[in-house]
Amino acid sequence: MLVLKFGGTSVGSVENIITVKHIINDGNRKVVVLSAMSGTTNALVTFSEYIAETESEKALQCITTLQALYSETIQQLFSNHILKTEVIAYVGTVFKTLETAVNTKHTLVLHNTIVAQGELLSTFIFSRFLQQEGLNARLLPALDFMRIDKNNEPDNFYIKQNLNRLFNANPEADIYITQGFICLDAEGEISNLNRGGSDYTATIIGAVLEAEEVQIWTDIDGFHNNDPRFVNNTKAISNLSFDEAAELAYFGAKILHPQTVMPVRALDIPVRLKNTMAPEAHGTLITNTIHGEGIKAIAAKDNITAIKIKSARMLLAHGFLKKIFEIFERYETSIDMITTSEIAVSLTIDNTTYLDAITEELERFATVEIDNYMSIICLVGNTIIYHPDTPNLFQVLQDVNVRMIAYGGSNNNISLLVNTSDKLETLQKLQRYVFEAEPIVV
Ligand code: ADP
Ligand code: ASP
Ligand code: MG
Repeated sequence: MLVLKFGGTSVGSVENIITVKHIINDGNRKVVVLSAMSGTTNALVTFSEYIAETESEKALQCITTLQALYSETIQQLFSNHILKTEVIAYVGTVFKTLETAVNTKHTLVLHNTIVAQGELLSTFIFSRFLQQEGLNARLLPALDFMRIDKNNEPDNFYIKQNLNRLFNANPEADIYITQGFICLDAEGEISNLNRGGSDYTATIIGAVLEAEEVQIWTDIDGFHNNDPRFVNNTKAISNLSFDEAAELAYFGAKILHPQTVMPVRALDIPVRLKNTMAPEAHGTLITNTIHGEGIKAIAAKDNITAIKIKSARMLLAHGFLKKIFEIFERYETSIDMITTSEIAVSLTIDNTTYLDAITEELERFATVEIDNYMSIICLVGNTIIYHPDTPNLFQVLQDVNVRMIAYGGSNNNISLLVNTSDKLETLQKLQRYVFEAEPIVV
């Protein structure tokens, strides 16, 4: 069994939907995970925010515009009258329900129900389109099997049991379509796997089914060596190890949801990144095998807060770090980067929910300085800390204000902390120093 996930752009236009149909119509049994059509989840998030702000007019305007896009797509996609009528009725019900949400109390469940509609719409439309085109496909509702537990981890036992139940009830299909991103939480309420979560849905399903391969089909020809949104001349990487991909995804490479490789890594199920718009391109294959040496890719993660904890008493004091870590542990706040000197420790977090409480506790024995609007730039590659080309990256120090460096924590990762306002320049400079090896002009 294969699991193929198609992202927002891949299902975002009539042309691309037709391309996806061709890609999946190869006679192999598969699960197809779909995102919402591009722009839909953003629009639904905005819609939900307007409801929270009791901006009814703006909220209604927002979904009216969205509904018009869907009407247009349906008109172009369907020639079969019965299926077209069915799809129009379904989409109409979804938008009617959204409309009635406008004047209700805004809660987390309401928000999650609103943002779930994107995947519900795309999968309904796509499954009926495949039916029109004569493909043997079934829609398996993700909310009938996908669930997270109290720790927001996939509830694998529940998922496996229910997915198998659904397969057994629909044994004759070749293609099983389901929604990415959405799930139930431990209380049975509608929830999701966070933004970009359809990638994670695909690998959770891949692991549960022990699939041969999970394919993530997107709008670019694989994992690039730097963020193509900010840097020119980036190149696709043909092979990555699970560790490299996990590190890059965690540190901001938008092409993969941060948790994507986690479910499949231990089972050694390959993840292949492919371009829907250029299916013949090799893409990126993520496996347990390590290829190449030196710096392979760079990613950046925003919304980082740096905390400097200073104490004269730290000098030679054992147990100081333990005291600090215990506080972060108690507030379930994970630390990404850490550097130390004799009298201070600097560390970074990305979740500031408990920052005030953490600061208050730290201030009982240390002075605390907080810097917001920071970004971690992460450089990844096999044994990069030993590679002769790696020192090139330090040329960046002469041009950019680097607040922290983590080097040697592992052999495969180097992280720099910079002001977010310097991120673009840092990424571009690193691209030149590291991948284009621009000589220094003095
Ligand atoms: P999808 O909707 O298919 O899930 P995403 O927008 O989530 O697509 O991810 C693909 C996008 O990720 C690319 O179009 C690109 O702009 C961005 N991106 C960021 N970093 C990278 C990278 N290192 N390699 C490839 N794409 C990247
Ligand atoms: N539609 C969701 C989002 O935009 C999930 C996904 O695209 O993976 O975040
Ligand atoms: Mg994505």
